Amino acid sequence: MSVLVLGHKNPDTDSNVSAISFAHVLNQRGIQATAVAQGTPAPETEFVLNKFNLKAPEVVTSVASKELYLVDYSDLAQAPADLKDAKILGIVDHHKLGDVTTDTPLECWIQPYGCSNTIIKMVADYYNVTIPADIAGAMLCAILSDTVLFKSPTCTEFDKKAAQELAKIANVSDLEALGMEMFKAKSNLNASPRDLIFRDFKDFDMGGKKIGIGQLELISLSMVTPELKESLKKELAAVKSEGRHSAVLVLTDIMKEGSELLLVSDEEDIIINALGTQKSDNMWMPGVMSRKKQVVPPLQGAFKA
Ligand code: MN
Ligand code: MN
Repeated sequence: MSVLVLGHKNPDTDSNVSAISFAHVLNQRGIQATAVAQGTPAPETEFVLNKFNLKAPEVVTSVASKELYLVDYSDLAQAPADLKDAKILGIVDHHKLGDVTTDTPLECWIQPYGCSNTIIKMVADYYNVTIPADIAGAMLCAILSDTVLFKSPTCTEFDKKAAQELAKIANVSDLEALGMEMFKAKSNLNASPRDLIFRDFKDFDMGGKKIGIGQLELISLSMVTPELKESLKKELAAVKSEGRHSAVLVLTDIMKEGSELLLVSDEEDIIINALGTQKSDNMWMPGVMSRKKQVVPPLQGAFKA
């Protein structure tokens, strides 16, 4: 039986490409593995898969009785509901340690790097696994995406080095140009407000409160018209009313290197203060690019029981 390599809910490029690249590494190690995902690719990932002629991972919603590797997360909230009935063989991740646990020893590759694919490149090198050009190109895109062209505070020297090596394999000479092409595809706002909020959305348990945080990374926030902003706020209220304490949307301007905060919450002030901004119609957070490093930790701290 083939083991599954599964990324997180609302899969982003890193999550999808990690499933593909880590399944390749496992197969080369003699472990029969299949890349799967918990949803269909968003526009950025679609661009990357098309560019490098890769197939999207097959969508799965249930993993009961399967053997699997988790890539790009270790939180139960990011996993299928029946994960407890599956056997976790390993984890590759670069987020805060989640609440997944196992009954048996597992293979664990967790590093505080900017991208799961940086870690997968390290694992491939460790096992002397050759990465084909198409997969290398997609892995490079995952690094460019997660580190926002190396500008995110999550980016490390390891990410830059892995990106250079992958670019060589993929025969990509202009990383900046490839990154901009990709972020243009990502900046596609041609979707319903609900789809935009959930395109890259994660629920967190913070001191017993369910806090949902979405992020949209755009080439320019000027693309968000006042009308669209109103619709997003309205939809955020609906998202909050579905059993959440707070619904937050972080609108990131990758060129200006900062983010605007939209939120609907039972305790607005706590969130606004924790993120160091002030209540207004236009809550700009200069330098804030990373949800995992600059948004989640201050909120975890503020809501600690
Ligand atoms: Mn991810
Ligand atoms: Mn990632």
